[in-house]
Amino acid sequence: MSENCFQILAREGKARRGRIATAHGLVNTPAFMPVGTAGTVKAMLPESVAATGAEILLGNTYHLMLRPGAERVAALGGLHEFMNWPGPILTDSGGFQVMSLSELRKIGEEGVEFRSHLDGAKHLLTPERSIEIQDRLDADIAMCFDECTPFPATPEQAAQSMRLSMRWAARSRTAFRRRPGYLLFGIMQGGIHEDLRKESADALAGIGFDGYAIGGLAIGEGQQEMFRILDFAPDLLPAGRPRYLMGVGRPEDIVGAVQRGIDMFDCVMPTRSGRTGLAFTRFGELNMRNARHAEDILPIDPRCACPACRGYSRGYIHHLVKSREILGSMLLTWHNLHYYQELMAGLRGAIEAGGLAEFVAGFGTERAQASDRLKPTRLET
Ligand SMILES: [Zn+2]
Repeated sequence: MSENCFQILAREGKARRGRIATAHGLVNTPAFMPVGTAGTVKAMLPESVAATGAEILLGNTYHLMLRPGAERVAALGGLHEFMNWPGPILTDSGGFQVMSLSELRKIGEEGVEFRSHLDGAKHLLTPERSIEIQDRLDADIAMCFDECTPFPATPEQAAQSMRLSMRWAARSRTAFRRRPGYLLFGIMQGGIHEDLRKESADALAGIGFDGYAIGGLAIGEGQQEMFRILDFAPDLLPAGRPRYLMGVGRPEDIVGAVQRGIDMFDCVMPTRSGRTGLAFTRFGELNMRNARHAEDILPIDPRCACPACRGYSRGYIHHLVKSREILGSMLLTWHNLHYYQELMAGLRGAIEAGGLAEFVAGFGTERAQASDRLKPTRLET
């Protein structure tokens, strides 16, 4: 592959503090990527997303290929120009969402045939077409086209699915147009099986990628099982390249994965939860729909410096959420993204200072114990 875009600046245990260089700028790791599904991080201006500390966004190939179409985005200057986000963008390959959102899927050696969930139109997504779409979008980091092995799966199903993904990875690599600052990541599959994860890691390293993702986790196996796999899976991948855990996750998942050597994350949780009235805090999650916030004059978190916490009471945000006002989604999305980015900055600082163990201990104590002052309830729903 091309010269290494990833620099490891500090380590503590298996955790790494690093920096990825892309065509549109640097990404400090461990990094959390807000999800900009259809060319927008919902309810946020791009400059507001940047103000939370985010350095890189995730865009979805499946959504953008169906509407407005990759060729139209290219005609309008590429995804950065189109959505007014000048920083780095990673796009997924479309494989995961073809399986979860589209209808009438037919998986073959060539690729996946499906009908759009928007208008029923028939499409064929292949490794070559997925890479072409990501190229049209001008993604700084493109992902290999793969099949996310369903959970649960028999060892035979997991092996067959993983080997198909490895053949697709080789085709993705061949189709990828190499340019300075543009990176292609391979995706490890293999379900919950150590021998299959090893076979997948070896196959990917043999092809050679700029970075490596761990796919097929956070799809229902639970945190304990995910951590069991993360206890060995990152070590199977080339040590000097960035490692990306796809679709993860909750703050506790991210902290545990960083300790196990993961550098990059994405998840819809902070944005989607924000639109349904859930606030992430140091002391657990708050459901702002709950009536006990109705007359609360405190902000979501008095120590948070985000605009939602600087200017608005829990009582007001409760009112916005109950009234389905757009501002409620905006404020909670901003607060949640701010919380996630502050968590990542805390992890980076802790690794640099050699204080990760203390940071994680403090994080766990705070998240597990409701503060007298804040009186939050954990995981209210
Ligand atoms: Zn806040």
